[in-house]
Amino acid sequence: MKVLSHTLGFPRIGPYRELKKAQEKYWNNQITKKKLFDIGYNIRKFNLNEQKVNNIDLLPIGDFAWYDHVLNISLMLGNVPIRFKEEINNIINIDTMFYIARGSLHDKKSLNASKMTKWFNTNYHYIVPEFYKNQSFHFSSKELLNELDEAIKMNFNNIKPILIGPITYLWLGNKIQNNHFSRLELLTNILSVYIEILLEIKKRNIQWVQIDEPILALELPKKWLQAFKNAYDILRDNINNINILLTTYFGSISHNIELIKMLPVHGIHIDLVNGKDNIEYINNNISKKWIISFGIISGRNIWKTNLKKWYDILLSIKKSRPLLWIGSSCSLIHSPVDLNLEFKLNKKIKNWFSFSIQKCKELSLITKAINNNDYSELVQWSESIYSRKFFKDITNIKVQKKILLIGNHIINNRKNYNTRSLLQKRKLKLPFIPTTTIGSFPQTSDVRKLRSDFKSGFISYDNYKKNMKKHIKNIINIQENLDLDVLVHGEPERNDMVEYFGENLNGFVITENGWVQSYGSRCVKPPIIIGDISRKKPITVYWSKYAQSLTKKIVKGMLTGPITMLLWSFPRDDISPIEITKQIALALKEEIYDLEKANIKIIQIDEPALREGLPLKKSEWNSYLKWAKESFHLTISSTKDVTQIHTHMCYSEFKDIIHDIIALDADVISIETSRSGDNLIKLFKNLNYPNELGLGVYDIHSPNIPSINKIKKFLIKALKNISFKNFWVNPDCGLKTRTWEEVKQSLYNMVKATKILRKKYNNF
Ligand code: GLN
Ligand code: ZN
Repeated sequence: MKVLSHTLGFPRIGPYRELKKAQEKYWNNQITKKKLFDIGYNIRKFNLNEQKVNNIDLLPIGDFAWYDHVLNISLMLGNVPIRFKEEINNIINIDTMFYIARGSLHDKKSLNASKMTKWFNTNYHYIVPEFYKNQSFHFSSKELLNELDEAIKMNFNNIKPILIGPITYLWLGNKIQNNHFSRLELLTNILSVYIEILLEIKKRNIQWVQIDEPILALELPKKWLQAFKNAYDILRDNINNINILLTTYFGSISHNIELIKMLPVHGIHIDLVNGKDNIEYINNNISKKWIISFGIISGRNIWKTNLKKWYDILLSIKKSRPLLWIGSSCSLIHSPVDLNLEFKLNKKIKNWFSFSIQKCKELSLITKAINNNDYSELVQWSESIYSRKFFKDITNIKVQKKILLIGNHIINNRKNYNTRSLLQKRKLKLPFIPTTTIGSFPQTSDVRKLRSDFKSGFISYDNYKKNMKKHIKNIINIQENLDLDVLVHGEPERNDMVEYFGENLNGFVITENGWVQSYGSRCVKPPIIIGDISRKKPITVYWSKYAQSLTKKIVKGMLTGPITMLLWSFPRDDISPIEITKQIALALKEEIYDLEKANIKIIQIDEPALREGLPLKKSEWNSYLKWAKESFHLTISSTKDVTQIHTHMCYSEFKDIIHDIIALDADVISIETSRSGDNLIKLFKNLNYPNELGLGVYDIHSPNIPSINKIKKFLIKALKNISFKNFWVNPDCGLKTRTWEEVKQSLYNMVKATKILRKKYNNF
């Protein structure tokens, strides 16, 4: 039997982010729906074609989405939140998708968008399905079938539709009413739609369907595990002659092997890059009638794969298992599209990388080698991987020595909070309930143009600095006029909070086009960590110092923390993530030292990615949380007690790691509370959190201006749970995506509401 290659999905943004540009134009009424459809069609055609010319045997269909692939399934099932029902008038189309994802106005009533949250432990955000008791589902959006027909029409024959499996879909959703029911009660209703669509797929003479059940990598409650057998038995009883590839990724699945092997499916896909399953064990436990698809090409990192190594392993497996496929570890949506669009990278370094198109090439190379029993081409492919070890710029002995000296036991060596707090209060002299912002201010087109003019060499560094200072001056002025208490310089010099530090540290390289979808039309361009990390020179000091020179108020310095730097980059794979974060922490520690010398009295270390780094399996949480905390403590390990350390986190479920967040012992934590309501605040209260808390009093993702009254009410409610001595008032995240109009009005209201409160509680 021939070994086959396949990908689990291809990036849908297009090589030049065509989808993003088209979506945004469509939302702004700059292009018609027809034009948007044309652009989508061209991306899908391009994707299939690229995979085909690179000899991928089975081409994925269903990886495209106008906004999000989980939302695709919601629409397929007709799962539209009730509040939108009137708005859409029973028609489910592309606009429905955008309403649910972005919110809308109906009869002057604003309809909230559905919640968005992170897709497992990635930086991709999906739209959370909403469920209610006795909900029924109807086969509604036929997008997947249309895309199958479209591919057939384009003469792509070996196509493989993709669906998120019913159990994973239910697991990912939220109950929107408090009445007691289990999401699993909805399973039968959901399955009826899955049966309908599978029957339709079968009519098209398709052999294989990829059904994604990535939750099999989690440690699931028993009743969820039991649901698998039940659900797949029902599918089998209602459809035959269609092969199901049960697809897992992001982690190992051996702990669920007894369940998996009982399921009436025809194959299993396993992520061998992010999971550490023993291949022999899996091979021995899975029926020989099944296909096993081994995911060996990383969908989540950009390093070339050591194909020769995998060749040896897979060839030996093939002896006992003729039905073998080779695939990407997970969907390639987490990888950039095309390495050939990088024109500025050093040639040698570029040769270490592989983006989605190159990953297809890797897949076909190894598949061909195994089928032909000839690895000669693989050796050449892997050569650059070995050369990497000897590349001089990767190693920094000084850094390595420092890391060795630190050892494995890092503690929080600052004085206790009460002592620090006294020193800080005396120095900072802030009013009670101080107001501040999270760091960034609107990134207008002139700020962006200034940066890109400098980058492309159109203007000199002096000119750039002069103009950048103008922006900072303006931002400081505006904050003074608003009468905020702790000011920021506004981060206009930063395109992105991670890429900016990546550009200014040794050990990173930056790409021109290495974009990855984060959510909807938002893409990020993660920097790549190729070597030991060290600071070239002070990074933020110049700007912070300048901003501070303009005002008598305190300006807060702004850094991106080590965990977020690691998780929002493509990390190197030759040293451990722990080591990488230690290196980043040391570089940041030097930066803090210089900021203190420049008389910066408050420093914020952003860690918005902290929660997302949690391993999928709860049993592995503690070890991650330990090093996450240690990296924070290492960063602040020589900070003066009088310097106030803030940290910021957002848009995650913090409940289950609250103890660890508290143990960071930052002087002030600003945390998103406008969406998660007062539950989080209560939690801090119940735990007698002694340090200070910055309350995110309004949602920065919405263009709505929060009224004074709304903020005031929020604060009064919060005050019931937390003493005003301990809290700050701020928006729930940075303001870079908003317009100046919105920002000025919202902050005006925020300050006003706080002042009213101060008056009210002045006697205390
Ligand atoms: N300081 C950053 C900003 O204001 C924080 C962004 C974030 O939390 N994602 O943009
Ligand atoms: Zn944030």
